[in-house]
Amino acid sequence: MRTPLVAGNWKMNGSRESIKELINGVVEGAKSLSGVEVAVCPPTIYIADVIAATDGSIVEVGSQDTCTATKGAFTGETSIDMVKDLSCKYAIIGHSERRTMYGETDEVVAEKFITVKNAGLIPVFCIGETLEEREAGITEEVCARQIDAVFTTSGDNAFADSVVAYEPVWAIGTGKTASPEQAQSVHAFIRQHLAKRNADNAEKVQILYGGSMNPANAKELMGQADIDGGLIGGASLKADDFMAVCQAGQ
Ligand code: PEP
Repeated sequence: MRTPLVAGNWKMNGSRESIKELINGVVEGAKSLSGVEVAVCPPTIYIADVIAATDGSIVEVGSQDTCTATKGAFTGETSIDMVKDLSCKYAIIGHSERRTMYGETDEVVAEKFITVKNAGLIPVFCIGETLEEREAGITEEVCARQIDAVFTTSGDNAFADSVVAYEPVWAIGTGKTASPEQAQSVHAFIRQHLAKRNADNAEKVQILYGGSMNPANAKELMGQADIDGGLIGGASLKADDFMAVCQAGQ
């Protein structure tokens, strides 16, 4: 039985003051949760503040990205060792905003995946199709291609202690959610695809849905057999909404 995970991706939002209020609200709300894991991924510059505020709480912290190099002359980058040094548990990689706005290819994301694994953190590996790809009927092909790039760099056991987030690009930040049936169908495909390399890992891996998940649709989405939680953008910026999604995952 997989424990659901609800992770908030705060993206490039907030100030020191507003983030303090948000994380305090999440930590307070998380006190009454059981049977669900919770994580937040703040802007890098606020990770240390958030780690301090989550001390003693079930709320875990992750980064939103990582550099593939571990140190050196990479102006503006943050290494996974630095993220680890702050006691983060997770690192999001391959978010569609990184893939589309910063040109991250499947190969770059796969390299980030192994960087996170080698550091002993858990990658939250984002995959998903664009609207054009869905309309062309190649959703499964796209997800398989993105996953296979990781198998190529990390081997058949890649998805041990890893999290996958299926995020249809057309549903991110648009208010358009995949229907529970649409999402379940892709999640089931992803698990079957992972099982071709390692059935045990496929059974254990948490596959999160991401794309306009909110308090109104979270329960039905997370009620699907292969949906093991959510990666939440917009709705994670208000503690009450985020906690309502976490409660729906219980
Ligand atoms: C995301 O960016 O990972 C995401 C799921 O965003 P939203 O919930 O706002 O669609």
